[in-house]
Amino acid sequence: MILYDKFGRQITDLRISITDRCNFRCVYCRSADPENYRDHDEILSWPELDRLARIFLSLGIRKIRITGGEPLVREGVEDYIARLQALGVEDLSMTTNGHLLAERCHRLLAAGLRRINISLDSLDPERFERITRTKSFSTVMHSIDVAQKSRLAPAKVNAVLVRGLNDDEVEAFALFARETGLIMRFIEFMPLDADRHWTRDLVVPAAEVHQRIHVRWPLVQVPHERSETARKYRFADGAPGEIGLIAPVTQPFCGHCSRIRLTADGKLRTCLFSKDDHDLRALLREGASDEDLVTYIGSIVMEKEEGHRINEPGFVQPSRTMVFIGG
Ligand code: SAM
Ligand code: SF4
Repeated sequence: MILYDKFGRQITDLRISITDRCNFRCVYCRSADPENYRDHDEILSWPELDRLARIFLSLGIRKIRITGGEPLVREGVEDYIARLQALGVEDLSMTTNGHLLAERCHRLLAAGLRRINISLDSLDPERFERITRTKSFSTVMHSIDVAQKSRLAPAKVNAVLVRGLNDDEVEAFALFARETGLIMRFIEFMPLDADRHWTRDLVVPAAEVHQRIHVRWPLVQVPHERSETARKYRFADGAPGEIGLIAPVTQPFCGHCSRIRLTADGKLRTCLFSKDDHDLRALLREGASDEDLVTYIGSIVMEKEEGHRINEPGFVQPSRTMVFIGG
């Protein structure tokens, strides 16, 4: 069986959150409140994750991104990556806050990882530390440098722009891409923050980001796959580096969505903004056969929502926030 939904979209892309834990507390993601992590036995074990990966690959998943929480805080992630490679995942990547990346880069490469997304929301140390509520600016910058000098290059660096917080840094980030040759991606702030501070006024539209960079350094659009979330641009003057714009709020890309998500506690989510999620962990632990799991996953995917409703009146923010879903 190959995974399709009732709108004819083939599902080829799986984001796997391997932990709900994180060593950062980014203001647009986690709350500053004390820990509210799931118990360890609520999180899928490595054998459970292996089994699900094998089943998903048999259903036509070609692209897997490992995320969290912070994936590098879970012991064993390199071994998991090596096992996924051995299973034949065509496109395997990881999203990380970069805090532990420099020291782990070598092991990740040895495991077979070839693509990485690193979050960086400010080039100003004090502001970075205010946003992430850490003291990790120089550590993360060093990690980006290490990644960029390794076979992970060109690294993708993700900035979530929030009006009044870091939107004055668009040009500085673009210059950073030109100087380093990395792929700088700007993500619109989505209503998935634990503190529920999101409002439409805080969203910096991708069109504005494009316009601001374009007047300074003209941009040329680069072709992208239909299902890709980012619109991609290179610099017209031939400078290295690339710009990616991800506009889930102002230019939703749901029509071509090929993604589903597995949360760290084993729930299948067919959209970031799904109201419900679907309990694969319970089935695994009740002794379901592979056939049972395939049938269940197929039926859930078939009902994937047509699109998110952020822009519709009465939109309700999902109860699970980004750190628990896995971005
Ligand atoms: N901890 C890792 C990291 O920060 O890269 C991986 C998990 S994090 C949830 C994945 C991505 O989601 C990051 O790029 C982060 O910036 C993004 N993110 C988190 N909350 C967001 C929000 N409310 N709106 C848009 N993106 C968000
Ligand atoms: Fe942690 Fe990533 Fe969320 Fe920041 S964005 S709090 S690093 S999970």
